[in-house]
Amino acid sequence: MKIGGYDVRKGEKLRGRIKVLKLANQCEVTIPILILNGTEEGPVFWINGAVHGDELNGSVGAKNVFERLDPKEVRGTLVVTPIANPLAFQNKQKHSFMDHLDMDQMFPGDPTGLPTQRIAYHLFGLIRENADYLLSLHSNGTAFRAKPYIVYKRVPNTPAEVFRKIEEMALTFGLKANCCVDIGSAKGELPGVTAGALDITCIQNGIPAFMLEAGRGGRIQNENVKIAETGILNTMKLLNMVSGDIRKPEEKQIIITKRMFFRSDYAGMSQVFGEPGSFVKKGETIARVFDWVEGEHMIKAPEDMYIICSRCHTVVDEGDRLAFVGTEWRDR
Ligand SMILES: [Zn+2]
Repeated sequence: MKIGGYDVRKGEKLRGRIKVLKLANQCEVTIPILILNGTEEGPVFWINGAVHGDELNGSVGAKNVFERLDPKEVRGTLVVTPIANPLAFQNKQKHSFMDHLDMDQMFPGDPTGLPTQRIAYHLFGLIRENADYLLSLHSNGTAFRAKPYIVYKRVPNTPAEVFRKIEEMALTFGLKANCCVDIGSAKGELPGVTAGALDITCIQNGIPAFMLEAGRGGRIQNENVKIAETGILNTMKLLNMVSGDIRKPEEKQIIITKRMFFRSDYAGMSQVFGEPGSFVKKGETIARVFDWVEGEHMIKAPEDMYIICSRCHTVVDEGDRLAFVGTEWRDR
């Protein structure tokens, strides 16, 4: 198995670095890569983390799975690129300090582009060449509390059997909340564009892919790291890469088909009461925003909602997000 200049024989694990950029001070920017080549034939499952530089729980979970697995018990190859965006990681932020681009809007990258686009091009070249399946690891922003959830996308012109595989992988991961986003009709649901996302670009290249949002960014949350580990192993069991029973979800699974940001119309200090992972009924108070002169505003849910993540950074401007919520869902 040759990836990025490394030759990993069957039954071996490799920890390496792939050069993706050179800086003016002659330092080389590299992406760490972990490759586990099983002793038996099987698919290549690629797990990519920290495409947003401060979203780290999932990368820790993927590393733990890599360390624990014995190549003798693996069919196929597990590849982990835990820090896909080393410039943003260096800056302890979502985006690179060099060009401020969102790497997850830059795939398949551009070899003549800005630094983030060049790194995306290097990385995606390796993924396109090698991966059969991909998991893209994210977390919510550092200003938000969140329970881990899955995002999988219906990309226009995707063959039905590819979408079925994506959905099967997404739901087998085993989390309660699973956001199914129809890219053809979800315009405006998220800020910015969805084109250029790693999972979407993979799907457009015939590689079934989905996303994990693993809690809060900027920290290692042990509970969420464990959830990532269990889900990764579930996916590998589904792909017949490791043996064992798939761990069933602890709670009934829901598929969320419509989401929205719940924004503040007020400025000042906020407290959000909606707990991530909980349902809120229309009319329930989900937050309060107050300032020292204008007084207090109690904010009620305009419709039934599922709280995907909620603000924990107290200070809000008009238009800031208080919560990210599901407004339509169905039981699995
Ligand atoms: Zn992200």
